[in-house]
Amino acid sequence: MSEEVRVRFAPSPTGYLHIGGARTAILNWLYARQNNGKLILRIEDTDTERSTTEMIQGILDGLEWLGIECDEGPYYQTDFIKEHIVAAEALLASGAAYKCFCTKEELEAKREIAKANKEDFRYDRTCRKLSPVEVAERESQGHPYVVRLKVPEGEGAVVFDDAVYGTITKRYQDIEDFVIVRANGQPLYLLSNVVDDARDRISHVIRGQDGLGNTPKQILLYEALGKKLPIFAHMSLTLDPKKAKISKRTHGELVAIHFYRDHGFLPWALVNFLVLLGWSNPESREVFSYEELLEAFSFAGMNRANSVFNVNKNDPKFITDPKAINMNAHYIKTMALTELEPYVRAELEKAGLWRDEYAGAKHQWFLQTVDLIRVRYHLLTDFAVFGKPYFSDEIQYEIEPKARKRNLDKFPDLSLWLPQLADRLEQLEDFSEAAIEDLMRVFAEELEVKPGAIINGVRTVITGQLAGPGLFEIVTTIGRERVTARLRNTPNLY
Ligand code: GLU
Repeated sequence: MSEEVRVRFAPSPTGYLHIGGARTAILNWLYARQNNGKLILRIEDTDTERSTTEMIQGILDGLEWLGIECDEGPYYQTDFIKEHIVAAEALLASGAAYKCFCTKEELEAKREIAKANKEDFRYDRTCRKLSPVEVAERESQGHPYVVRLKVPEGEGAVVFDDAVYGTITKRYQDIEDFVIVRANGQPLYLLSNVVDDARDRISHVIRGQDGLGNTPKQILLYEALGKKLPIFAHMSLTLDPKKAKISKRTHGELVAIHFYRDHGFLPWALVNFLVLLGWSNPESREVFSYEELLEAFSFAGMNRANSVFNVNKNDPKFITDPKAINMNAHYIKTMALTELEPYVRAELEKAGLWRDEYAGAKHQWFLQTVDLIRVRYHLLTDFAVFGKPYFSDEIQYEIEPKARKRNLDKFPDLSLWLPQLADRLEQLEDFSEAAIEDLMRVFAEELEVKPGAIINGVRTVITGQLAGPGLFEIVTTIGRERVTARLRNTPNLY
């Protein structure tokens, strides 16, 4: 029987969950689910100055909203600091690590010399050569020290197979004896991360490509600790159009998961979009259900080249990557109405447009209306913004400037005609789309104007909008009473 798949998402809570982190979480989650494995959540909060409880909560909320369920955790790295120290002590005891008493000033001076000689600075292992007696002496004199790992000397290299980047070779001579415990006794991240992964029996480390540089050092740590190596799978990064890494500092809220939640995204649409960043499937398919993703996803399709996320912070209308918006629109348009319903309800509630009858006596009407208007929408927020004429009794709407110009300004007589049309609609026995259409065409003929003048005028007055579903369907959906009231309001429009 093969070993259990155990993967982890290990965010440092120094910022909110952003789309890069979410993508890493999603890929770990998919891999776990594909392999009947476990997803462990570990909050790497050892940077106590920069980690905040607010960010931790943000990460938990973000994962929950995306629908990513973790099987274990959250574990907090700070709860295991003692273990990290014990591991460092074991490395010292076994001779795999040593105490280094070099002062900052001494190291700085050596760094300067290397710089002057145009060489890369690497710690020269001065303290690795100290005898046990010398070490004891310095310690007894109270000299502070860091703990460094002994990297093998001479020829040879760390060689490993990354599931995405293939065989990676890093020569020992290019790795310095790196610090694993600071002078203040604090274990370093490289060590803590390995100790935690080993304890949690992580079988696959799936993380951003920015972790690739650490991997050779971490492999040396696994070996020195006598722990089994996980499989490493590094994921290409997500960059902005200027090729900068996606980050809170550069992009602010525009890359935060909560921004998408608050701006009308469906969680699965975002998951689907994020999986496609940096992953190619043979058929170049774009839309995947959860089951289809489980079937299709593999590291083999992960691109090594970084992907671009088209965040555009200069255009408030264009809130994010158009591909993400189109993916969202696709799901709004095609998902089962009953699945969409709670999301629309939540938007209407937020906007004060929800009525309990939409879940009761008018439930059927509500579903039909959602079905009618969703075809053109991109964001859930559109249901409250552009859907307002359908869900609100308001008589007068703010009129889109283009609609006013094209449909009202050219026909000032509409202010007389539309109230007359309202009278006729009131009299209409059969308030059906076909009958309404007939009525409007006859009315236009009598006035000797094109039917379009009346039809577009009605659309503009009852919705404020230039475009939308077919007018006769709009009229039956909004209903006789509200339509006639709005048509009679026309004198106030000009
Ligand atoms: N805490 C690290 C980060 O947020 C995770 C590194 C890893 O996954 O090993 O970048």
